[in-house]
Amino acid sequence: MFPSPPSGPFSVYIHLPFCLRKCPYCSFFSLPLKEEGRDRYIALIEGEMAAWKGTFAGGWADTVYFGGGTPSLLTPPQWKRLFDSLEGALPLGGTPEITVEANPESLTREHLSLWRERGVTRVSLGVQSFSDAELLWLERPHDGRRAEEALASIAEEGLSPSADLIFGLGGQTLRSWKYSLDRALSLGAEHLSLYQLSLERGSRWYSRPPEGRPDGYPFYRFAQWLLPRKGFAQYEIASFSLPGRQSRHNRAYWTNKPVLALGAGAWGYWGGRRCRNEDTLTGYERAVREKGRACMEWLELSEDEGAREAAVLYLRTAEGIPFGEFSSRYGGEILREILSILRELVPENCLEWRRESVALTPRGMRVGNSIWSLLI
Ligand code: SF4
Repeated sequence: MFPSPPSGPFSVYIHLPFCLRKCPYCSFFSLPLKEEGRDRYIALIEGEMAAWKGTFAGGWADTVYFGGGTPSLLTPPQWKRLFDSLEGALPLGGTPEITVEANPESLTREHLSLWRERGVTRVSLGVQSFSDAELLWLERPHDGRRAEEALASIAEEGLSPSADLIFGLGGQTLRSWKYSLDRALSLGAEHLSLYQLSLERGSRWYSRPPEGRPDGYPFYRFAQWLLPRKGFAQYEIASFSLPGRQSRHNRAYWTNKPVLALGAGAWGYWGGRRCRNEDTLTGYERAVREKGRACMEWLELSEDEGAREAAVLYLRTAEGIPFGEFSSRYGGEILREILSILRELVPENCLEWRRESVALTPRGMRVGNSIWSLLI
């Protein structure tokens, strides 16, 4: 049984798991599917959307996020088909935020102009670095010049550009990191997502890590110093934006708002439960053909687990844990318990206590992982 669908605003995440080839550090669900396979996958997404049609009485999609994989590998006609199905199946709000992830080697002007016509507002580009040597080390299929052209073209088409950059790469220096940050800003990025290279189970490099990876701490610290001087605020542990350019979709995740997940391996959440879609292509195909919906299981977190996870998510953001909202959702007792852990075990200069909330300071964000481990 799935919990009653939301009757207010919700977010939609659509997973498009195709890539040209697998990057060695990647543990996401993605496959080197050819065009025919992608058509078949779109038909499954359409089937899943149709199964949800009419379920959201009074609810509306406030944000939609097409993630991957490499969504820009879909051709413009395939995108047209996806948008038609989305609009036919799900109620969209008046001014939805619609984001598409893209990679430089496959993003074209045709994509951008179609996306703009169909209401896309943001494009999140997997730049990773503007240095050719670093991109080669990462085995990415694009070079710095292609990344520059792609990022510039997003702003030229009137969409809001976001760039993903990675630090902790072999051969990377603070100088080359500054070069990548500066290039992103000068080419119009209004939002940056900065990640440390981490090798998770399931990636090719997990068992055979490459040598020469520098410590990521100085790179992160440098970005925290540089970006506010360029007008960017750090509104989440890995996210920086110009005023008004935060990602509404990501905020919905961090504040535990309802998310409908579509596509193989996608995760959704509402009513205190998390839903995991079938995470193999065959499992997903079978689920959609047999049941329409592809949710493998609804995981119900205990009240205590749910509250602690929510506290960690709130602490990722600059707003931190809002006392009033948190205690009305999870109860005053667990809030008091969490606050006393923070008070007793976290160094003072890592937390900013306010009248109605507590948040991490920039220093606290640099050691976020150790703080989470005290809470969950
Ligand atoms: S890192 Fe991105 S482009 Fe590379 S395989 Fe993973 S999802 Fe695809």
